[in-house]
Amino acid sequence: MAQHQVTVFPTAPDKARLLFSFVFLIVALGLGNACTQQADGEVSPNPSVVAAGQVSAVAERHDDDADESAITEPVGSVPDVDESLAFQVASGVTVIPDSRIAFVPNIGIIEGSESVLIVDTGLGAANGERALMLARKIAGGRKLYLTTTHFHPEHNFGASAFEGSATLVLNEAQAIELREKGPDYIELFKTFSSQVDERLEGTILVEPDLTYSGMMTLDLGGREVILREIPAHTRGDQLVYVPDQHLIFTGDIAETRFFPIMPDADSSAVRWIGVLQQLEALEPKIVVPGHGAVGSKEILSALRAHIEFMRDRVQALVATGYDQQAITDLLVPAITAVYPNWDNQEFVPFEIAILYAEATGNAPQLPGF
Ligand SMILES: [Zn+2]
Repeated sequence: MAQHQVTVFPTAPDKARLLFSFVFLIVALGLGNACTQQADGEVSPNPSVVAAGQVSAVAERHDDDADESAITEPVGSVPDVDESLAFQVASGVTVIPDSRIAFVPNIGIIEGSESVLIVDTGLGAANGERALMLARKIAGGRKLYLTTTHFHPEHNFGASAFEGSATLVLNEAQAIELREKGPDYIELFKTFSSQVDERLEGTILVEPDLTYSGMMTLDLGGREVILREIPAHTRGDQLVYVPDQHLIFTGDIAETRFFPIMPDADSSAVRWIGVLQQLEALEPKIVVPGHGAVGSKEILSALRAHIEFMRDRVQALVATGYDQQAITDLLVPAITAVYPNWDNQEFVPFEIAILYAEATGNAPQLPGF
């Protein structure tokens, strides 16, 4: 990806020069297109590891998802976990896929001989109940643990359904962030749609039973799972790593064919690039993103290339005197043209805001939701 050239822009962004820059940028970004699209690879789960009879297999789902004509969420889809779509993505690791439905995360169920770990809850207690139901069915009599990749509502706000059934393990930073921001995020998300509003009605935020800082190894019996703090999307992002399957759950640090979400001042593009490099260094064979199709390491490298590319453009534009608004006006249409199949386009201005803050050393001035 090193062949992208920094475009030289005129210093005064008057109208004619802006147009010139835009055309020049499109050409420059167009060169980037060829590498990023090839790096988007999603993988289908190996049908040989789908457990017959335990959960229904939907191996074709990723092929559907990889079809560039089937990109956005189904019309009229509700933000509900559909546990009937669950499939085994590796030996003893089940995923309830998000089906690219907004406010539905990929949920994981990781089995050991003595315990079973659930990763993420779905939006609100009723969705948490669905995930718990499947986890119970898979676990039989085994002990249940729950962890969440970060505090965001569709990942964590179903945790109350697990109280009394599962031990909630969180990194301390996430627990603190949940405490600080959780109530505001309930109110924020309730404004997004009546369906989200209904699912968050009466949400009870849950304190963890067990916390750690840095890294923790959870022994599920015959299988160790590594939990590690990887702050970038939020302050409390957590990696869930299953070394024996070379498999990682990234939370929203990686989302297949979505622009990265940098929703508030705790997001960091600089840290994000570093986190993606660390995850790539683990050489994962299977990457379960927070949203979007399960895939391989290429999900990580495609996203890192994108953020680095945006960083370089923002830095170049800052150096030539552009302010955040001018950069946003220039880059948003250009970058969404370069990534026509990536969703979350509404979050590109947020990404630019964080990149601009990091390039200038100023506090982030984020657009409103
Ligand atoms: Zn998130």
